[in-house]
Amino acid sequence: MNKKIIIIIAGLAVAMIAGTAMLIALISNLVSGGSSVGFGDCAVCAKIAELNNERAEKYVYLEENRTSMGMIDETYALRDIETVELQLQMLGEHDCSKSVKKVEDMEFNYKNYAGTYTGECRSGIPCGEGIFTGTYKLNNAVVYEYEYSGEWSGATPNGNGEYEDYYNNDFGFVYKYYSGGIKNGVRDGDGYYYFKNQYFSRECINGTYENDVLIGQSDFIEYDEYGEMSDRGVVEGDEFTVVASERREYEKQQQELQNQQIQQWQDDLFASIGNSIIDGLGDYLAGDSGGSYYSGGSGGGSSYAYSEPAVDNSAAIEEFESLAIYWEDEYYRLLQDDPQCLNYQTKDAEYNMNYFRRRARELY
Ligand SMILES: [Zn+2]
Repeated sequence: MNKKIIIIIAGLAVAMIAGTAMLIALISNLVSGGSSVGFGDCAVCAKIAELNNERAEKYVYLEENRTSMGMIDETYALRDIETVELQLQMLGEHDCSKSVKKVEDMEFNYKNYAGTYTGECRSGIPCGEGIFTGTYKLNNAVVYEYEYSGEWSGATPNGNGEYEDYYNNDFGFVYKYYSGGIKNGVRDGDGYYYFKNQYFSRECINGTYENDVLIGQSDFIEYDEYGEMSDRGVVEGDEFTVVASERREYEKQQQELQNQQIQQWQDDLFASIGNSIIDGLGDYLAGDSGGSYYSGGSGGGSSYAYSEPAVDNSAAIEEFESLAIYWEDEYYRLLQDDPQCLNYQTKDAEYNMNYFRRRARELY
């Protein structure tokens, strides 16, 4: 009989221990937030969670209606988001007294991204070090992906960290990577920034950011679509405007070189045309060699006219006139794009036109 009682008591004790263990598990689950929600009993964290959900809803609403809403409605929607963001920013300073719990693949929404969070939490809110991975799909066509790894507070990336931001639609994709100081989810502090689309990619090294904007200048390296380095230099401002570029400098030098070559080619051509006419003229000049006759330059023409008035130089005149016409056509053609006659090509054409006209006149 005693044995039976002992067994019953022992059984009850086991049941009690098991019950207590279950209760402890339940309490700890509530405190840590388990794998879903649960903000412990911190009112501030509960408020952060509520605002975070509100933010997510507002971001999704904006993305889904952006194309159909007018500018005023969009402004209101953005202001709505800003109001929630500001409240979250204020609560980001919240120094929670609840203990840090590590969670794994906890369901979490950040902005319009739905995903999971793995890392440190307080009262069920990302707080401390953690990784969030989320996606968002618009009309089953436009895909957004976001991953952040680093420090969190107020359910928002705050501190040091790195993020990858990817966006893809029918027209192409944009991939962004940032590593450095983060404040309220955006670049703030010293950081490295990289972005890529289907055409090219660019690294921005040693930049300093304030509220997502590049302050001052940053060195950059650019790569073409095949990943080959295509440029290097300096960018500045919120648009990452290129202010110094090795490629542009090289292209400028090449252009100058090309201009010099064109000028040289024109000079050579001009000289050869002149010589061929002079040589050709020799044939029309009875008993005189072209070379010696023309050594005096253009003035020689008239001296010849006086010394040999009987010679028929109509063929030479015709050749000079046809060249004058050729350069006149060229001159008016170039004037279409250069009405002020500022380019050397236009100036040269004008000079050649006048030169051959004068030479023809001198032979009359
Ligand atoms: Zn708290």
